[in-house]
Amino acid sequence: MPGYCPGAKAVVMKVKLTHGKRRFVVDVEFLERKRLSITVHPDLRITARAPVNADRNVIKNRLEKRVAWIVKQLDYFERFQPLPPERAFISGETHYYLGRQYRLKIRPGSVQRVRLIGRFFEMELHDTGDRAKAREIMMRWYADHARELLVRRLNQYLLVFVKMGISAPAIRLRRMKKRWGSCSANGVIILNTELVKAPIHCVDYVLVHELCHLKYPNHDKKFFQLLRRILPDWEKRKERLEKVVI
Ligand SMILES: [Zn+2]
Repeated sequence: MPGYCPGAKAVVMKVKLTHGKRRFVVDVEFLERKRLSITVHPDLRITARAPVNADRNVIKNRLEKRVAWIVKQLDYFERFQPLPPERAFISGETHYYLGRQYRLKIRPGSVQRVRLIGRFFEMELHDTGDRAKAREIMMRWYADHARELLVRRLNQYLLVFVKMGISAPAIRLRRMKKRWGSCSANGVIILNTELVKAPIHCVDYVLVHELCHLKYPNHDKKFFQLLRRILPDWEKRKERLEKVVI
């Protein structure tokens, strides 16, 4: 646990900051240290560490002075948040599949299901106002399509890696909040089912990125050399992925 010091329980103060219409809270820990430090975390939490005897008002002032910097960090990390604002699962709402927008159309039906037809997600529900059921059906649709698509494409790229003597990884699919994919040291690739909302060339970037980790676990020079050899335009794909709205 960062900042934990046995015997000396850290005191935490919450400082509320505003910037235009935005409001946020900084958790300040008081520790045996000389300077104030502020961290904006990738999950958008903001924490600070202050010297144990520092004056509370001075700390508050210092944080207020850094508010523009904090907002800049938050904006940066917000680009990487794969999770959308909560959907309402009502007719007319936009949902994504492979980078394209489709409108949700809900009508009464005896079989509860959703199908992608033309520009629409056409859903049938016993009760068209049953948002929990609508959500469940959409989530299952995405999970099913993620499994089929991600595994099929991963297997295509895997051929290149098999030639290098790499054995096929175990693949797990999961809905994740903070990452598109990961590859563990024992060769398990975990992919975010939300990935099927991104354009296919971005999906491929994530797949190849994780496959490269089977050969090179770290983001070192050799890793990027291999990535570039397979996807010479990987940077463009990554950039596009960061703009994906899901
Ligand atoms: Zn990586």
